[in-house]
Amino acid sequence: MCGVVGVFGTPFSSQEAYQGLLLLQHRGQDAAGILSFDDDTKEFHHYKDLGLVSDVFRPEILAGFAGQMSIGHTRYATVGPKNPIESKRDIQPMTINYPHGIGMVHNGNIVNYFELKKYVQEEKRRHLFTSNDLEVLLNILSDGIKEKNVINQFDQFQEAVKFLFEKAQGGYSVLGILADKGLFAFRDPHGIRPLILGERDLTEEEKKLHPKNFGKSYCLSSESNALNFLGYEVVRDLAPGEILFIDKSGELFSSTDYSKKNQITPKPCMFEWVYFANPESVLEGRSVYSTRLDFGINLGEEIRPYIESGEISPDIVVPVPETSRVAAISLSETLKIPFREVLIKNRYIQRSFILNTQESRNRAVQLKLTAIASEIRGKNVLLLDDSIVRGTTSKRIIEMVKEAGALEVYFATTCPPIKFPCYYGIDFPDPKELVASSRTHEEVREYLGADKLIYLSVAATKKSIGRENLCMSCIDGCYPVDIGCAKKFQDMRNLHRE
Ligand code: SF4
Repeated sequence: MCGVVGVFGTPFSSQEAYQGLLLLQHRGQDAAGILSFDDDTKEFHHYKDLGLVSDVFRPEILAGFAGQMSIGHTRYATVGPKNPIESKRDIQPMTINYPHGIGMVHNGNIVNYFELKKYVQEEKRRHLFTSNDLEVLLNILSDGIKEKNVINQFDQFQEAVKFLFEKAQGGYSVLGILADKGLFAFRDPHGIRPLILGERDLTEEEKKLHPKNFGKSYCLSSESNALNFLGYEVVRDLAPGEILFIDKSGELFSSTDYSKKNQITPKPCMFEWVYFANPESVLEGRSVYSTRLDFGINLGEEIRPYIESGEISPDIVVPVPETSRVAAISLSETLKIPFREVLIKNRYIQRSFILNTQESRNRAVQLKLTAIASEIRGKNVLLLDDSIVRGTTSKRIIEMVKEAGALEVYFATTCPPIKFPCYYGIDFPDPKELVASSRTHEEVREYLGADKLIYLSVAATKKSIGRENLCMSCIDGCYPVDIGCAKKFQDMRNLHRE
């Protein structure tokens, strides 16, 4: 998973891209990059490096950017080499110089990457410098642009993107700059990964600094929290398969006919609401915060029969920090059981799910959480987490709460059991590593050491998010986009991990 941001129309475009990336830092912490295009000098400015956004973009680096169009990226690598030299090559944005200067970023994963890599290398005789699927997308788009002879017309540009849609299978949201032409964006035909458009009026200062202004600035972002922070009003989520282009005169063009014509059902990723997105964000018109409150309410209704039958008798509801806190509040209110934040997070340790090896995740759990024993001793504890992926973190937390003196520990999650890998940008790589993939409910409970294990049901997950059409492939194994090439992709991911 990654965060992308694009800004068009303000002389402060790169500063806004930088601030937008700070707001999207939770979507990836491996690396960050910004690319801007200066309409006056006709030059790209480009900087990227490994590390957090604030570490990569020191003030002297940011001061070197210029231009009214910028795109930015914060990276969470789901595949790619760990060797620092090679992994540096995989950082986005990436550029190509033929048949036009193009810079691009994306959030997602291309499942048929190896097939496309072969096509680009063998049929198109191009050399690829990285193992990032964005480079393949960039080559396919540039081919489409060359073949459709794109000069200034949106009609031609959208044909080039449709050519890419036909070839690239996966979940992806893309932002890019076509040198001296404009800023573009598109979302995969199922709309698996999010992308949101905002606009605002320019200030008097911006108008003075950029006399050729259009009175307006646009911003596209993975999440609406970045738009809110930067003062943009949300216009809308890009539709699945939407292609958008803002040309250098400030005119906005858009086409949504690809997914409609092909009758493709929208399938936004449910895990955005469960875990990934910032609670302040609104995705597909549905607030992440309100959804998580509803997860807690609906889970409460599903837990109530166990309490009424006497099977469990929780004394306190305890969130596993941070994501489940909102749902734990509404769960506690629904069940009328006190909410207690007795697991304290060391906020300087990264989210363990995002760390790349099992060993680093184990160490991180020990470092990042402390239990307040005086509040736990002698009580039955209902622990709430957002999800269970590998189970090792949950197991260690249950042990910790028991060591702190809990009598019984019930473990609940605001997500159904994750049994299948994700090929669309989230790091659930191998079924072997997913605790629920080859175990029964009872076996998972036993493995975790919980006295009771309760997952939010699929129906309650959909009800809370407020829509039926969702990607839930990691839950039910029904993949909306062909995963025929997934085996090779998975082998590669495992190899890089080792
Ligand atoms: S498989 Fe799961 S994590 Fe991946 S896109 Fe679908 S819902 Fe999201």
